[in-house]
Amino acid sequence: MNINPWGSEIIDVEKLYAEFGLQHITPEMSEFFKGELAFDRGMLIAHRGFDEYLKAFRDGKKVAVMSGIKPTGPFHLGSLQTAQELVMLQRRLKAKVFYAIADLEAYADNGSTYKRSEEVAIGNVADLLATGLDENNAYIYRQTREMRVIQLANIFARHTTKATMEALYGERHMGLYLAALVQMGDIYLPQHEDFGFSHVVVPVGLDQDPHIRLARDLASKDTGIKLTAPASTYHKIILSLDGQNKMSKRNPDSMLTLYDDEKTLKRKLANAFTGGRESAEEQRRLGGNPDICPVYHLGYDMFDTQEERNKERWERCKSGRLLCGECKKDIVEIIMQRMKEHKERRDEKEHIAREIVQGRFYSD
Ligand code: SF4
Repeated sequence: MNINPWGSEIIDVEKLYAEFGLQHITPEMSEFFKGELAFDRGMLIAHRGFDEYLKAFRDGKKVAVMSGIKPTGPFHLGSLQTAQELVMLQRRLKAKVFYAIADLEAYADNGSTYKRSEEVAIGNVADLLATGLDENNAYIYRQTREMRVIQLANIFARHTTKATMEALYGERHMGLYLAALVQMGDIYLPQHEDFGFSHVVVPVGLDQDPHIRLARDLASKDTGIKLTAPASTYHKIILSLDGQNKMSKRNPDSMLTLYDDEKTLKRKLANAFTGGRESAEEQRRLGGNPDICPVYHLGYDMFDTQEERNKERWERCKSGRLLCGECKKDIVEIIMQRMKEHKERRDEKEHIAREIVQGRFYSD
């Protein structure tokens, strides 16, 4: 099985554990991060080497967290999910955040010009800051402007064969292979002597695992530079509203963005797949299935922080006391409130985002 990190297929998690050696989140990790929604609600489902990373933190070593965004559209829930993990690790471990604006990849994968990427990235970075990221303990950069990333990618290219790329990614055009190598430059940038972080974790969705495998493989090669294999954590993929695939920018009606207004949000949820029955009568009699319902998961996984309210929603749905119309209305209100608060913070941060993206202010 090879996974397509540029596609929108659902991943078979059990296969990844079995075939590729993903590790389960341990009770010790859940205990350590108790009180954090990502752990309490089971949003983080796997890792590679995160136990060693936490040990380094406990031993007093300085740690970093690395991630990024392909600036081809507004923040969607997957981007928000990753941003929340970055913020959590920055807050809990004082980890320095490295965040790549993947404009080289945006061109390779989507044909977006660098100029267009710059505009989109300003909004993306404003969203990142609105999520709570402290820009004073972060390094946010554009791939096209970060020569160290390009130099690292060039070194890694010398130690990577086409056969390796094909085995990991399938047959792709050279632009995507190049973008993957540039991502290796991003992942190893915190280890560059200018920064000196040897313990780095990369929070990703399961579909991004090929990049992590490539990165960890590079650490075992004689590249002439000292590399420590990065750790990774994996979050659950947020179900698309049609109940089929992960949310994807390629299918706008299947996903929410943080820019949806109330009318759009209502329309998207009205058309969403649910775990409900054919008719209201049947639902009252047999109950719905919240576990497979993307609407329920929007509340539980992302927006509704109140434990009791989620529990009650689940029980009322299961027992047939809650119908989908009322449930969607309730969730729309909760999401609107959260988005309103987020938008206020984003507006406050936009000028800083512009300075970062346009390069007048790098926070390192
Ligand atoms: S009542 Fe809510 S949780 Fe239950 S199936 Fe309908 S939309 Fe989903």
